[in-house]
Amino acid sequence: MDAATVTCATCRTKNQVAFVAAEAPRCTQCHGFLPWITQAVDSDYTVIADSTTVVVCVELWAAWAQPSRLVGPLLERVVAERAGRMKLVRVNVEDARRVQSKHEARLVPTLILLWQGEEIGRHSGALQLPELRRWVDQGIATAFRPAKTPS
Ligand SMILES: [Zn+2]
Repeated sequence: MDAATVTCATCRTKNQVAFVAAEAPRCTQCHGFLPWITQAVDSDYTVIADSTTVVVCVELWAAWAQPSRLVGPLLERVVAERAGRMKLVRVNVEDARRVQSKHEARLVPTLILLWQGEEIGRHSGALQLPELRRWVDQGIATAFRPAKTPS
């Protein structure tokens, strides 16, 4: 199974972080949450994007798209700040035409927020760090809003 090596920002322990898991990853040493940054292609997209209980941000990117190169590092930062509450799934559209067409994402980059398989937010094109933070936090708030009680 795919995994990434992530160094804990708190205690500097190196951890293996699995791409597929229900719960957000924690450091084996200090048990703090770790940033959850994964990659997917057509064949493993569904299991990586739909297997978790946290909010998923799908980043449809391409090396040739200038705004992708700007948004990528900002996303990494935002996801690290929200460790334990979200998962980033990076999808290079060159390797994932089916994922791109499933989400009808004509523009690159397109960011999609998913919660329990449902789309709860979408943004296409470049954006600045404060906007990105606001957009992600809105999505997280939508996902964790208490269910309405039937009247
Ligand atoms: Zn740690």
